[in-house]
Amino acid sequence: MSEVLTTPAVLILLGPPGAGKGTQARMLEEDFGLVQLSTGDLLRAAVAAGTEAGKQAKAVMEAGQLVSDEIVLAILKDRMAAPDVARGVILDGFPRTDGQAAALDALLAAAGQKVTAAISLEVDDEAMVGRVSGRYTCGTCGEGYHDEFKQPAVAGTCDKCGGTAFKRRADDNAETVRERLKAYHAQTAPLIAYYEGKGVLERIDAMGSIAGIRSALSAIVSRVSA
Ligand SMILES: [Zn+2]
Repeated sequence: MSEVLTTPAVLILLGPPGAGKGTQARMLEEDFGLVQLSTGDLLRAAVAAGTEAGKQAKAVMEAGQLVSDEIVLAILKDRMAAPDVARGVILDGFPRTDGQAAALDALLAAAGQKVTAAISLEVDDEAMVGRVSGRYTCGTCGEGYHDEFKQPAVAGTCDKCGGTAFKRRADDNAETVRERLKAYHAQTAPLIAYYEGKGVLERIDAMGSIAGIRSALSAIVSRVSA
């Protein structure tokens, strides 16, 4: 399934860990021919290609410093001029602050473009805590289970391999998940407000099924790009 957009889309996808952002970004790539650009990948590619901005980034990283917004924007600008992203991009990991969002807007405006939509995958924090903190896996084959949603047919025995040892990730406990969500909201609130002010914020209920979220996202992308 591939739909044709009349204008290249510049999408910002926002969502806390566990909201399925990566999965949904891959589906948008499939559905619309968009290309996901993550800051880490962009930096690595620019350094490897030895572009002017890539050389600057390399020097900064080798000095153990953070790559500045200017360099990231320069790399992004180069990347967005490539023919494979003619149908649009999904930005991942940038912008992170409202200052970066304003700088991105300036960059896009200079190219006659703008952010088409900033899409926030909205979760119910407490439901999310339950979802993530109930996860555990078979210690033998790695099959995933959940206290609430997916118990083995025979209690204490893996459906797949018959194993009886299970394990939980230390960082999947309720308190850690709550902390991660809190940090996400604190970091993202200014960005959400920024895009809301620009009239391009779209909110999606990300607690439903993957297919349901996918169709809601597709509807938004079709609408804003038409
Ligand atoms: Zn197993």
